[in-house]
Amino acid sequence: MRNGMVSLVGAGPGDPELITVRGLARLRSANVLVYDRLVHPALVAEAPDEAERIYVGKAAGKTTLDQQTIEALLIERARRGLWVVRLKGGDPFVFGRGGEELAALIGAGVPVEVVPGVTSAIAAPAAAGIPVTHRHFASAVTFVTAHEDPAKITSSVDWDWLARASGTLVILMGLRQVWAICTRLIAAGREADTPAAVIASGTLPEQRVVRSSLGGLAAAVADARLRSPALIVIGDVVRFADLFDQSASQPFSSILASQIACN
Ligand code: SAH
Repeated sequence: MRNGMVSLVGAGPGDPELITVRGLARLRSANVLVYDRLVHPALVAEAPDEAERIYVGKAAGKTTLDQQTIEALLIERARRGLWVVRLKGGDPFVFGRGGEELAALIGAGVPVEVVPGVTSAIAAPAAAGIPVTHRHFASAVTFVTAHEDPAKITSSVDWDWLARASGTLVILMGLRQVWAICTRLIAAGREADTPAAVIASGTLPEQRVVRSSLGGLAAAVADARLRSPALIVIGDVVRFADLFDQSASQPFSSILASQIACN
């Protein structure tokens, strides 16, 4: 029997065209596809028809497979000699528990490779015209995870330090805590007029961007009734979204169409 293996693959930020060439190749050769909630259905469809597809994301009102069960599943299928593609939203190692799965597979002696993905932490701001770093406005960027519980914000995060840190802050999993986060940062010394934005469904056709100041962001987000997945960007680079908006008064698709017509 041939040896099985696991490819830990990043699916990219949302738009199915933003998976890597290697990621798509792995997906097209999979015997088993194990995927999460944020993976686009068009990518799930890329696996061969005969591949086993196993959804391990959260469904509303239902419990998720716990992490150990997912790891045991990957190990068991690989030991059967199958090629398992573990497809995760964005990059597998950015707030995706990819590191835990990698360690479990190595521990079980299962051959494993990592195919990095385009993380939403960079791509969602980019799709809204926000460069997370800029030579003149931000020489550093910090990625932070908020908390699943809207009443709390993650206590392992040093919010006082973040409030004083220079550069851009990108906060994932923070939509429901946007008020608590902004209030905490302002209390710890960040200027309330710091530019801030929330990007929901970044890179997808339903992408929405809400821009405000740190002090006004929570109210603006509540008015807009944004839905997850969404992330928060805080820092001077958010101003670039205005520039991008002005240039976007002519849709890119029509610019592209006229270019093609000229060639
Ligand atoms: N590994 C993923 C992140 C998983 S955590 C990555 O690298 O992108 C899930 C969080 O990612 C969501 O709560 C949200 O904050 C963010 N996210 C994922 N996709 C997104 C998208 N298309 N637009 C905005 N935020 C997104």
